[in-house]
Amino acid sequence: GNNSINAKLVLLGDMGTGKSSLVLRFVKGQFLEFQESTIGAAFFSQTLAVSDATVKLEIWDTAGQERYHSLAPMYYRGAAAAIIVYDISRMESFERAKKWVQELQKQGNPSMVTALVGNKCDLEDKREVLTEASFLAEPDFFNYEARTYAEENGLFFMETSAKTAINVNDIFYEIARRLPRA
Ligand code: GDP
Ligand code: MG
Repeated sequence: GNNSINAKLVLLGDMGTGKSSLVLRFVKGQFLEFQESTIGAAFFSQTLAVSDATVKLEIWDTAGQERYHSLAPMYYRGAAAAIIVYDISRMESFERAKKWVQELQKQGNPSMVTALVGNKCDLEDKREVLTEASFLAEPDFFNYEARTYAEENGLFFMETSAKTAINVNDIFYEIARRLPRA
């Protein structure tokens, strides 16, 4: 088709989860072992062709530190899509991701396309956040199930690695496919 869509996309999540690395991988196909911390936020634009539309994503990569939290609404306000990132090797970052989900549900756009992304899935031996329920998991395993949490909250879920590139393009294309058409 000839649909052309502009969409604001915001990345949220704890510092160090790999937000900037996911964007760098997607936009430039690169990965840095020592990615510099984001100050405030960084902006990128990328145009994607999906089956029925051309989607221009205006990507806001936010810093993630608590001290920048008050700035976050500036970035998610008016956003058509959000990617909430945690690090599968850090349970704390998953708890933080849930806080972002709650904040968006309270204050965000109700039709926002939201992805929950467990990044650093190359670090399987350091995994703290499970994808699926497991009979071997700890008694409070319920909190550890990212996919279930995502389904219950109307998010789509993927695990990624900015390092190996697994699933990185897929998130952005899936968001582009799910955006409402003009
Ligand atoms: P941000 O603070 O969320 O933007 O996180 P960064 O993109 O700055 O990444 C923080 C650190 O994690 C950097 O040292 C990255 O090289 C590393 N990193 C990011 N993504 C991955 C990944 O998928 N796998 C591994 N092993 N390291 C990653
Ligand atoms: Mg960053």
